[in-house]
Amino acid sequence: MNPEQPLLQVFETMESEVRSYCRSFPAVFVKAKGYRLWDTAQNEYIDFFAGAGALNYGHNHPAMKQKLIDYLQNDGVTHSLDMATEAKERFLRRFWSVILEPRKMEYKVMFPGPTGTNSVESALKLARKVTGRTTVIGFTNAFHGMTLGALAVTGNTFKRQGAGVPLHHAVSMPYDGYLGKDIDSLDYLESYLNDSGSGVSKPAAIITETIQGEGGINVAGVKWLQRLERICKDNGILLIVDDVQMGCGRTGTFFSFEQAGIRPDLVCMSKSIGGYGLPMALTLIRPELDIWQPGEHNGTFRGNNLAFVAAEEALRYWENDIFAKSIESKGMLVNRFLNELVRLHPELQGEVRGKGLMQGIAFAIPGMAERLCKAVFAKGLIMETSGTDSEVAKIMPPLTIDEDGLRAGLHIVKESMRELYE
Ligand code: PMP
Repeated sequence: MNPEQPLLQVFETMESEVRSYCRSFPAVFVKAKGYRLWDTAQNEYIDFFAGAGALNYGHNHPAMKQKLIDYLQNDGVTHSLDMATEAKERFLRRFWSVILEPRKMEYKVMFPGPTGTNSVESALKLARKVTGRTTVIGFTNAFHGMTLGALAVTGNTFKRQGAGVPLHHAVSMPYDGYLGKDIDSLDYLESYLNDSGSGVSKPAAIITETIQGEGGINVAGVKWLQRLERICKDNGILLIVDDVQMGCGRTGTFFSFEQAGIRPDLVCMSKSIGGYGLPMALTLIRPELDIWQPGEHNGTFRGNNLAFVAAEEALRYWENDIFAKSIESKGMLVNRFLNELVRLHPELQGEVRGKGLMQGIAFAIPGMAERLCKAVFAKGLIMETSGTDSEVAKIMPPLTIDEDGLRAGLHIVKESMRELYE
């Protein structure tokens, strides 16, 4: 490698072909604050990507940053595996008093590793241990992570098939609305579960997102989620809600499933739970299901105390309902704007999807969402696509973004649409 090579070329030469965002966002970023980022050429960008949901509180949140600086200044323990530390204890206390107790929720908290996939993996494994059953049901277009277990319940052929991930321990069922309006996907699920004559064995668990974030912003209805919970109860199946992307306020409430009034047996969380973008994950376990033996499921990076410090501070946002209300009103602003945009461009057959600050436009015409994301990037807006065919342009800013920032980003979307398609 030539030492004088420009940075982007270094990535081209050295980084594995597996990378993807590097291609979508051809810039080298050096600085980030709130909802904005800057690259090496001092270009400024508005962030409508938020680290795929890991930055709900924005980049370098000042209060969290100060807590981290103080902690480091005092030589706080940074890594501790699962030893007891004050930072972890403080996080747990606040998680109980701000999140669980006011919602009358009883869960044990497990730290399964640094990532969302680790949380999913732990939930699948525990469900199998608790029920003594082996199969798990996931849904079409679901995304649950990249390790082999999580991948088996991820309804995405491209991600799964190349690795030959077997489906014999996972079954994919149609998600809400996937079969079209006339056929109810849960009728389908129930007939599958009752098909004992064909030798169908009951699964250990059903895992679902409340909105499929990677799968195309497909929203599960409240009634659908409630009936899914009932089906699980009636059949002794554990319900796992993967709130890795929709949790921590993305759809307007701390847990996305609160809005449906359901109580999953196991809940997976990660991404923004670490507050500052630091790796952290949680698995919430209904207390009577916590049958792990000590040391049965462990790993090195379960004790990231810097993440606990930032995460404790992040929970302050949930001490009252001001933050939740602000997400709701910003979500309405986005929704109005996107609906107007779709009306302005009927030829694009766009459909507005989502809730809270997880919204987007699904385009019927192939390649449209990708072209739009490229165009907005050239104007200083970072936005990603989602959906199996990248058919959705996804708007997912930090939840802390102010209305001016939101409007500025949306204006770029509008301008780019006009330039591209008029
Ligand atoms: N579940 C969901 C719903 C996700 O959106 C993601 C990440 N996009 C994961 C699991 C995996 O999380 P991680 O990338 O942190 O392993």
